[in-house]
Order: sequence, then structure tokens, then C-alpha cells
Amino acid sequence: DPRLEAISQAIRVVPHFPKKGIMFQDITTLLLDHKAFQDTVDIFVDRYRNMDISVVAGIEARGFMFGPSIALAIGAKFVPLRKPKKLPGTRTKYHAGKVICEEYELEYGTDCLEMQVDAVQPGDRALIVDDLVATGGTLSAAIRLLERMGAQVVECGCVVGLPEVKGQCRLNGKPVYILVEPR
Ligand code: 5GP
Repeated sequence: DPRLEAISQAIRVVPHFPKKGIMFQDITTLLLDHKAFQDTVDIFVDRYRNMDISVVAGIEARGFMFGPSIALAIGAKFVPLRKPKKLPGTRTKYHAGKVICEEYELEYGTDCLEMQVDAVQPGDRALIVDDLVATGGTLSAAIRLLERMGAQVVECGCVVGLPEVKGQCRLNGKPVYILVEPR
């Protein structure tokens, strides 16, 4: 696909961010390039429009920058998968429903992704969206959240994926679709 080279070029590489030795793939410059941003969304939309997806789940925060546009275009609902304590739920005084949590490994320690249980129903067909997949730990937690609610995870879609992940990689048995590798 000739659009992929321009998408790759639109992603800025920031050495030593957020710490020394990391080559950070900064997708905010992709958002500034209207053509490349539109092409990115279009590629996902073309892939998923006839796959009977009923829910697009976006991972905080950069999954929120691509997921909603894809959801609107394919006629699916959008569900945010959030960092701990962001979603109103039973742990607050004014609870608005139940929130479930899945932990995943970080380089040092663990973090957690949360989802509101009433957002997803058994039988929902889910696409999980994030900007980048590295170890796959974050996506694995997202898959577990959706499967706990009885949703079927059809695929994970990411703009950037490490070479190990690109291609026919599967995560928890789920396919991962990736547009470009890090530069
Ligand atoms: P994983 O769990 O696959 O190891 O890491 C993926 C998560 O870390 C994603 O949520 C992604 O947003 C974030 N991430 C890790 N490295 C980078 C990077 O270089 N650029 C961006 N934009 N996100 C990153």
C-alpha cells in the first residue's frame, strides 16, 4: 500500500524520551498531517467495515486518537479502556456502575487497564485499537477485559508495531494488524 510510507514518515522519532535509550515513536505529528491521518483511519476502516465489528475499544490515551474515528465510520460503539481510577464506578461514592480491572507488566512493576462492565455485552464483536504495540502486554490486558464480559475479540489494530510483532503475530491467540514498523 503506497500510503504506508507517508504514514511512517509522518511519525516523529524522539530519541531518549521518556527516558535515555528509548526511541519514542511520536504519533502526534501524524495527527498534524491531515492526509496521512486520514489515510491511517481509512486503512483501518476499509479492513474492518465488513467484519461485523460491534465495538471498538480504544486504549488510553493514544488509542483514543484513532479508535473513535474508526468506530463512527464502521458503525460500531466506542469503549474507552482507561488507566486506573479514571472511570466512575463502584469504588467512588457516586457509583455509576461496575468497573473491572486487568493488570499488565511494565518494565518496573505493573499497571492496570479498566473498563465499565455495562459497555460490552456477551456476543459483541470487538476491535481493540492502540497507537503502538511493543511487548503486547497492554493489548493482552485489553483482550482479557473484553473476554471477561463475553465479547469476542476479532483483532487488535495498531498503527506501529515492532518487527517481531508485524505480520502474522498473534496475541493470546488473537491476530494483531499493524500498519508500519518503527523508524
Ligand atoms: P506494550 O504493552 O506493547 O509493551 O506497549 C505498548 C503501549 O506503550 C502502548 O499503549 C503505547 O501507547 C505505549 N508505547 C510504548 N512505546 C511507545 C512509543 O515509542 N511511542 C508511543 N506513541 N507509544 C509507546
